[in-house]
Amino acid sequence: MTETFTVHQGQIKTTLIQTKTFPRPESLLFIDTDFRTLKLKADDSSGREHILTVKLKTKHPTEAPECAADVPVPLAFHWTPQTTLTQLHGQFLQLLQSLTEFWDVLDEIDLKTWVLEPEKPSRSDAMRRIAIGNNASIKVEVDPKHPKMLPECCLLGAEHVVTPLRDKLNANMHLWNPECSVLSNLCDALEIQFPSRPHTKKLFQHVVKKPHNSQSEQPDSARLYCPESLSVECGICYSFRLESRIPDQVCNDPRCGQPFHQDCLYQWLRALPSTRQSFNIVFGECPYCSKCFLKLLQFLITSVWETRLS
Ligand SMILES: [Zn+2]
Ligand SMILES: [Zn+2]
Repeated sequence: MTETFTVHQGQIKTTLIQTKTFPRPESLLFIDTDFRTLKLKADDSSGREHILTVKLKTKHPTEAPECAADVPVPLAFHWTPQTTLTQLHGQFLQLLQSLTEFWDVLDEIDLKTWVLEPEKPSRSDAMRRIAIGNNASIKVEVDPKHPKMLPECCLLGAEHVVTPLRDKLNANMHLWNPECSVLSNLCDALEIQFPSRPHTKKLFQHVVKKPHNSQSEQPDSARLYCPESLSVECGICYSFRLESRIPDQVCNDPRCGQPFHQDCLYQWLRALPSTRQSFNIVFGECPYCSKCFLKLLQFLITSVWETRLS
């Protein structure tokens, strides 16, 4: 039984067929006509399917193959000229095993909450921005190596919504139980239930309303049409995603709380004569309620309302 691959196609083909050097046939999803690129399938212990792409180099097996997979950590396989593809596949399975808990944590969040970002999380995404309600959200960054520990958290939203949540999180942080899932710990720490994703687009059909600057009108907020005040579309462009960004600026007036895209708000404020600028901060009126003075960093680097947890 030869354990080596050569640069000659015929020999590579012959070697591949010899079973001990190669993962079980059902693991092979794809192989190109040059017998250079292979896609190997592997399931983790929760039954999720993963794919390892292996590109054999011209100096194979002296040179390690190039490997790629949708995982949140860098691939660092041990390779010697004697290493077989079966062993490589085995190393991939071990890696998947070590990440099972990480994906269990994120799958529960994806299933039971309304994830605002990323739009379509991949298996390598460790971040989730989760809707809380009242146009607030929490951004969590789960550590792939310690998925059940307290993740890095960042609360986003109007100050009057975010401040009490941040206080609760800080006060309850010491009760974090690594035996429980991140989601249940977050619910306990924030003392909330996360709203689930709305089922239909109908939710936003009624939200067709122009921003107004009339001083007398009460903020007839689009939020009124949405259960649990979960409208998150921008009050200026009426869309949720603008070049993949979602509204992360919120009017600080508790009666308004309208969200805006940073770019939309900056363009809007820039056009108003009442807008003032001090250094790199823009001050202006909320396009919806006209009451609150909005502050916006001119260079769109960071939101002044983003409340970071220490
Ligand atoms: Zn917008
Ligand atoms: Zn407002």
